[in-house]
Amino acid sequence: MNYASSLTGTYGQTLHSCVSCGGEKISYWRRKTYQYTHSETHEAFDIFRCDCCGTGFLNQPPDPRWLQAIYQYSGQALTQPVSLEQVLAKEVEFPNCMVDAERMSTEADRLNRSGNRLALDIGSGFGFYTQALRRQGYGTVSINPGQYENRVFRALNGHEPLPVMFEQYQTEQKFGAVVMSQVLEHLLQPDTAIKKVSGLLAAGGVLACAVPNYDSFLVKLLGTRDNACLWVPEHVNYFTEQGLKVLLERNGLRIVKTEQITRIPFNALSKRLKLSGRTALAVDALVKRLQQPFSRLMNTLGLGIYINVYAVKG
Ligand SMILES: [Zn+2]
Repeated sequence: MNYASSLTGTYGQTLHSCVSCGGEKISYWRRKTYQYTHSETHEAFDIFRCDCCGTGFLNQPPDPRWLQAIYQYSGQALTQPVSLEQVLAKEVEFPNCMVDAERMSTEADRLNRSGNRLALDIGSGFGFYTQALRRQGYGTVSINPGQYENRVFRALNGHEPLPVMFEQYQTEQKFGAVVMSQVLEHLLQPDTAIKKVSGLLAAGGVLACAVPNYDSFLVKLLGTRDNACLWVPEHVNYFTEQGLKVLLERNGLRIVKTEQITRIPFNALSKRLKLSGRTALAVDALVKRLQQPFSRLMNTLGLGIYINVYAVKG
């Protein structure tokens, strides 16, 4: 793909401190090679880890222009346009985004004590969070650079989000709720972004934030073969619960709730094992049955796949 490969191999400046806590005790963790979708190019990325809060990050990170070139089409690895019908069909088969959007917007509304009923959806994706926030009675502002996602967003919500990166967004408005779902791991300067979010929140307003968990059982088991959290170069930061909390707290936000979410498609195992017919159905049924207790256990141990954090301004 031309837009990506033309900038492939362009790196940013070497980092000397942790992207979450700012600590300077950082060290090399592992190298991850990747092959970009539809491209022959192989690139290697070094992942560093903070000795203090455990946050991981690419070092050197990719150049911002490289990421921007990817995100102008999609933040979710779409290589061609997708329709709302296709997205909804997937949600019916494996309820995912809609469940998260409903839970996070309900929780954000419950924790928002500002009286401000305007919500900001940063990295609005297909638009499920904006839709859920509106159902809660919020006025919404949505921003998202990806053309492919924005078309689905329009089919769902009747208008397009602002097609910009959060770094470029400017406003005089204040918000009672800000949602950042699967966004912070994509941003080269998460500290600058959270400082900005903090400035956009009304006093008593809430930030609802979801990121992949660097401490997840998938990363522990698969190491750099994990692509949920360690998806390069799109994901440039890999957060631990501790790192994420410190990042929010050092920008004037108070953590009010943390939870972990683990959801595995029930047919993931049968697919990976290339099963079919009755065997596949039997394996799927077994996974469905074991999934809930397994997910609960992983979340309790801090090994869940996603971290959700809610933090209040002031
Ligand atoms: Zn740190």
